[in-house]
Amino acid sequence: MVTTSSPVAGIEPRAFWAHFEAITRIARPSRHEEAMIDHVRAWASERGLEVKQDGARNLVIPVPATAGRESAPTVILQGHLDMVCERQPDSPNDPAEGRIELMRDGEWLTANGTTLGADDGVAIAAMMALVEDASLPHGPLELLMTVAEEVGLEGANGLDGSMLTGSVLLNLDSEEDGRLTVGCAGSTDTWVRIERPRSAVDAGDATLSVTVSGGLGGHSGSNIAQGRSNAVKVLGRALRQAQATVPFRLASLNGGRSRNAIPRDAAAVVSVPSGQDDAFRRAVAEAATEIRDEFARTDGGVTITAAPADSAADAWSVDDTAALLDTVALVPTGPLAMSPDFDGLVETSTSLSEAITKGAQLTLHSLSRSSNDSALPAVVATLDAAARLAGGRLDVKHNYAGWRPNLDSPTLATASRVFVRELGSEPIVTGVHAGLESAVVSSKVANGLDMLSFGPEIQFPHSPDERVSIPTVERFWKLLVALVDELSKPGVAE
Ligand SMILES: [Zn+2]
Repeated sequence: MVTTSSPVAGIEPRAFWAHFEAITRIARPSRHEEAMIDHVRAWASERGLEVKQDGARNLVIPVPATAGRESAPTVILQGHLDMVCERQPDSPNDPAEGRIELMRDGEWLTANGTTLGADDGVAIAAMMALVEDASLPHGPLELLMTVAEEVGLEGANGLDGSMLTGSVLLNLDSEEDGRLTVGCAGSTDTWVRIERPRSAVDAGDATLSVTVSGGLGGHSGSNIAQGRSNAVKVLGRALRQAQATVPFRLASLNGGRSRNAIPRDAAAVVSVPSGQDDAFRRAVAEAATEIRDEFARTDGGVTITAAPADSAADAWSVDDTAALLDTVALVPTGPLAMSPDFDGLVETSTSLSEAITKGAQLTLHSLSRSSNDSALPAVVATLDAAARLAGGRLDVKHNYAGWRPNLDSPTLATASRVFVRELGSEPIVTGVHAGLESAVVSSKVANGLDMLSFGPEIQFPHSPDERVSIPTVERFWKLLVALVDELSKPGVAE
């Protein structure tokens, strides 16, 4: 057998990279983290550390302070145990089976044909390396390692907050070097449900399908203010405009595939009175021209087509079709308010994520987000009003609270100071318009937490192109080590 030296041999910080490499050999797909949990348990027991575990399988490992730092406030270090296990179809490697092949590409570390798991292996490796280095001072720590983060923050949502006693939380799951993240969005799912009677389609009517595709889509939080088309809204608008010329009947309206993405595809089946299908197509084409022009600069690929389809058995009446299309028009989508703290950051948004026709019911599913919890009730009220005007109802599911930026946070002040001292420049302090586990964790702890999130530069996470910048790992490490030291110095972090 040919022995090759490890792609991370000799890179600093050595203990960190040794742990990181060890973790790449352990299968840890979301909801199947058992091997990883065993690995952490074995590591903890070698060091005489207690491991607490809750019903959701999250781990908390209390770590005593180093000498002289016993009276410092307890700091929670947090990351997730699971990873997204993606691979190229022809790759012999598979993270789901603990086969990740590390590769060096200049200053980047990547994996051969698979996701790397730097999201969030860097957090777990950093916690282990920090705790076992007796030369690094810190106050009492609690290592919070969650499961199933990558499937809707499932682990954090099931967290038993009574396992934690800390008042400060450092989340180690950010992916941009040079930033301190101090806010994120909470979210609420809603479903506008409208039921209207259906009746048989007239024999002789023409059946057409109208399809929207080609838009950019993207994350319904972080991409919501970039002027991208929403396929369901575009389809609703084209149909509503066409109905002013040709009173047709809607048989179905469906679009969107996931609750947290901007829909890229949507399709409707309509029943048009005989002899009017050309007029209907012209009306759709006219609307399409206007819509394409609206998105010419921001989402130029969006297309709308009408084509003959198999005839539908039944459909809503012309009047009910009008009411349903009015409702699609009323459901808002896009940014609603900008952050008062950070330029260019969205504070509140809502995105119509799915349209579903089932029997006589049309459901319009939205995901609304805000870092300001007090802003979401008004968004939900708008959706409720749309549902009521249509004689329908609204179902609401609150997911988790937002993390409202606190620019007076003592932890942020300390971290900014340490950042400048250790890394030689000012940090970019900002928030994200997406969910982070820390907001969920804070909501599970009696008095909330003073929080901060940071990490090294990770690109293309969740894809086989995932890579982490090696020099930024060293910067991340320096900041972490210096911050836990500084936060535990007497008189610094009260
Ligand atoms: Zn992550």
